[in-house]
Amino acid sequence: MVARVIPVNPFDLVLFGATGDLAKRKIWPGLFRRYVAGQFDDSSRILGVSRSELDDDAFRDRLRDIIPTSTTAEKDQLDRFVALVSYIAIDAKGDRGWDALAKTVRPETERAFYLSVAPNFFGPIARRLRDRGIATETSRIVVEKPFGHDLESAKALNAELRDCFEEHQIYRIDHYLGKETVQNLMALRFANSLFEPLWNASHIEHVQITVAESLSVEGRGEYYDNSGAMRDMVQNHLMQLLCLTAMEPPSKFQPNAVRDEKVKVIEALEPVQQSDIARGQYRSGTGHDSYLDHAGNPDSRTESFIAMKVNVANWRWAKTPFYLRTGKCLRARTSEIAVYFRNPPHMIFPGIDTPSGNVLVIRLQPDEGMTLHTTIKDPGPGGMRLTEASLDMTFADSLADSAQPQDAYERLIMDVIRGDQTLFMRGDEVEAAWAWADPIIQGWQERNHKPQAYDSGGSGPDDALLLMHRDGRRWRPIGA
Ligand code: NAP
Repeated sequence: MVARVIPVNPFDLVLFGATGDLAKRKIWPGLFRRYVAGQFDDSSRILGVSRSELDDDAFRDRLRDIIPTSTTAEKDQLDRFVALVSYIAIDAKGDRGWDALAKTVRPETERAFYLSVAPNFFGPIARRLRDRGIATETSRIVVEKPFGHDLESAKALNAELRDCFEEHQIYRIDHYLGKETVQNLMALRFANSLFEPLWNASHIEHVQITVAESLSVEGRGEYYDNSGAMRDMVQNHLMQLLCLTAMEPPSKFQPNAVRDEKVKVIEALEPVQQSDIARGQYRSGTGHDSYLDHAGNPDSRTESFIAMKVNVANWRWAKTPFYLRTGKCLRARTSEIAVYFRNPPHMIFPGIDTPSGNVLVIRLQPDEGMTLHTTIKDPGPGGMRLTEASLDMTFADSLADSAQPQDAYERLIMDVIRGDQTLFMRGDEVEAAWAWADPIIQGWQERNHKPQAYDSGGSGPDDALLLMHRDGRRWRPIGA
C-alpha cells in the first residue's frame, strides 16, 4: 500500500496565537510535516500573528528552533518551509497590525484564519476580519476549544461568530475527531457488513469509553480548576466518541449528514442521575503534590476524575449503557472504546470456564489500532478447554510502509483548507452537548458535592468501581 497525498489548492493561512503553546507543539510542526509530505507547495503562504513585536527573520528563527528535523534533507525543507511564513504583530482587541494583515493576504487565494487564542478573542478577531474586509465569503475560520463553559456561553460564542461568518465557514476543533482511529470507527461500522448487524442492544451488552491520563494538572492547575474533567473532557472529547459509537449510519459521508446523526445521539441522552456519577480528586503521591496543591485552592471541589453511566434512549441502544471515564494522574495514558458483546445465548460447553467473551477495543492512544478479543479452544491435548485469543491490528504495524497515522492537527488543518467540515463540530452540536452537561454540573454544584480522593497511579476513586460493581460489571483495567 502506498500512501496517497492529495495536494490542496494554494492557500493563505493566518495563524492567530502563532507564538503560543499549541502552535509551537502541534500546529507549526504539523504544517511542516504536511509540506514535507507534498500536500502543499511554495504557492501557499502562512502568516503568523500574535501580540509580540517580532520581525519575519526573528520569527522564522523561532520556527527553526521549535520544528524538529532529523536529516539534512529535512533541514533544507525546513528552510524552504519557513520562507513561506511571515509574521505580523497584531493586537486582537485593538487597531495595531490589522492594516498590515489586510495588505498581506492575497486577493485571489483561499483564506483560512486559525484562532489558536483564548476564546475571549474569538469575537473581537472575527469582527475585525469582517469589518476590514479581510475575511471574504469563501474564507474559513477555525476556533480552538474550549467552546464555552456552559450552554449560555457557548450560545454567546456561536452568536459572535455567526454574526461575522456563515456556519459553513466555521470550523470548531475537537482534535479527537482528527485521530485516525476515530475515523476508522466509522469505516469499521459503515464500510463492513460484519459489525453493523451486531451494533445494537440485542448484541452489545455495554460500552466503556475511557480517556485516562497519567499526568497531573501541574502547571495548568488554575485553568483546570475552573473547568474540571466534565467540562474539559466529557462534554467534548468523550461526547464525540460516544456519538460516533452510537450514531445511526448517515446517508452519506458528508459533513451535515454525519453531524445530523451525532446531534440525534446527544438529543437521545437521558438525564444522568447523580447516583450514576463518581467524581474524584487525586491525592499527593510519590514525587508529586495533590490536586488541591496544583490547583492552588485548598477548598477546591473540582473533579480531576469522573465516571458515569449514560443511557441513550432510542431503539438501537435501549438497555445498553455507555460508561464514560476520564481522569488525571491515573495508571497510564490511554484512550479507548471497549464494546462488550453479549455472551452466546446457550453454552454448549458445560462445566468449562468461559473467558470474558467478545470485546472489541478501539484504541486511540497510545498505539492507535483495534483488538478483537475472541474465545478459542485452548490449543493442545487434554480435552476441551476455552481460552482467550486477541486479533490485534495496531495501525503502525499493519500499515508499516503506507500511511503512518498523521497527527490529528495535521489532518484537521488540511481538512479546513479543503473545506471539509465532517470532522468539526457544528454549532447546534456543541450547544446540545452543553444542554446535556449543564444540569449534571448544576446537580453537584447545588449539593456542594466533594469529590472522593484517589491515589495517583491507580484507577480512580472507589466510587467508580462501585458504579460498575453495582451493575455486575467491571472496568477494563487502565492500560491493559
Ligand atoms: P498560549 O500559549 O497562552 O498562547 C496564547 C497566544 O495568544 C500567544 O500567541 C499570544 O501572543 C496570543 N495573544 C494573547 N493576547 C493577544 C492579543 N491581545 N492580541 C493578539 N494575540 C494575543 O495559549 P495556547 O496554550 O497556545 O492556547 C491557545 C488556544 O488553544 C486556547 O483557546 C486554548 O484553550 C486552546 N488549546 C490549547 C491546547 C494546548 O495544549 N496548549 C490544547 C487544546 C486547546 P504573545 O505570545 O505574543 O503574547
